[in-house]
Amino acid sequence: MVSLYLNVTPPRPFKSELHSLIHEKRARLAASGVEKGLRRNIDEVLDRIRAHVDGLRTLEGARLLVLFATPDGFWQGYRLPVALPSRLYVEPDPYIRPLTALLEEFDRYCVLVVDAREARLFTMYLGEIEEHLGFFESDTPSWISEGDGRAARGPALGVGPWAGWREPKIQRHIQDHVHRHLKQVSDRTFQAFKRFSFDRLIVGAPEGREGKIYPMLKRHLHSYLQGRLAGVFPGEPDMPEHELKKRALEAAQAHERAEEERLIARLLEESQHRDGLGVLGIERVLPALMLGQVHTLVVDHSFRTPGRVCPADHYLSLSEDRCPLCGGKLAPVEDFVDEVVEEAIAQGAEVEHVFTEHPEFSAQGSGALLRFRV
Ligand SMILES: [Zn+2]
Repeated sequence: MVSLYLNVTPPRPFKSELHSLIHEKRARLAASGVEKGLRRNIDEVLDRIRAHVDGLRTLEGARLLVLFATPDGFWQGYRLPVALPSRLYVEPDPYIRPLTALLEEFDRYCVLVVDAREARLFTMYLGEIEEHLGFFESDTPSWISEGDGRAARGPALGVGPWAGWREPKIQRHIQDHVHRHLKQVSDRTFQAFKRFSFDRLIVGAPEGREGKIYPMLKRHLHSYLQGRLAGVFPGEPDMPEHELKKRALEAAQAHERAEEERLIARLLEESQHRDGLGVLGIERVLPALMLGQVHTLVVDHSFRTPGRVCPADHYLSLSEDRCPLCGGKLAPVEDFVDEVVEEAIAQGAEVEHVFTEHPEFSAQGSGALLRFRV
């Protein structure tokens, strides 16, 4: 299986970059004594990939091209809006670690931007606005919006529709409008959640958490949505799209970092006790994984270690030569952690990639929360 991750972010000369990646890979395969027939097959796949990439005209905002291909005709390609370093792998199975890291790093977010009168709802995935679910305008009198619920900066008393009304009554009337609006917005957001099964909700409101609208909105939000709230940022529905995207993304990243902190703290805590449900370090993670004990595999994004894998049954080993399951010869792999990630996914375990530095954890590179101890 040839796996290609190609950073195509403009103005990168990605075609010539691919040429040199292929050139290096061929030299390495020749030097490593791969059997001639197999090498010819791999060469054909590499040629097909090069022809495909050379023929690319428009990339439509893609920043990463991912391709998996085999000599027997398997071909699967993806275009993603997030860049990763260019890499080319030829191994018994697909190199999936960067993909799983991307998918995890970016939950599918629903972003709601709301003020006293309007609301905008969109979905955000892999750092991009994926789909606009609608712009919503309530029947709240238009001059209320700028007050975000502070209300009644409106027309002078004694004229227009408010003639003869007392101030407290006007206030109450406005508050009713705003509450009705926020209730409708909350209902629509909940409907969108049910339809699209988002992971998280992010809310933009005037002055964010500190403003008046957000606390009012929160009282209307379905408890299911409250439980999925990942962040609140200062924003208004008529802000430029790129600005809303930037703020929503910052809120999402802050949320991901906080989750990561909690996970690492728990892992360190569990691995300190003799009977705790946590292990640190690949030499302890691997046996636990092979016994089906792993609930959540945690790997540092930059951690790499060599190892071996059985091409027949995916038995993993740090040092053995032969597979104890089938007696076959184990094949060395450049990035053993990729195989560990793949095995964990195959077992239905969760995989968490750690992107920031945590001295105690980073020194180990990997760890796991266990389902049980043996
Ligand atoms: Zn085997």
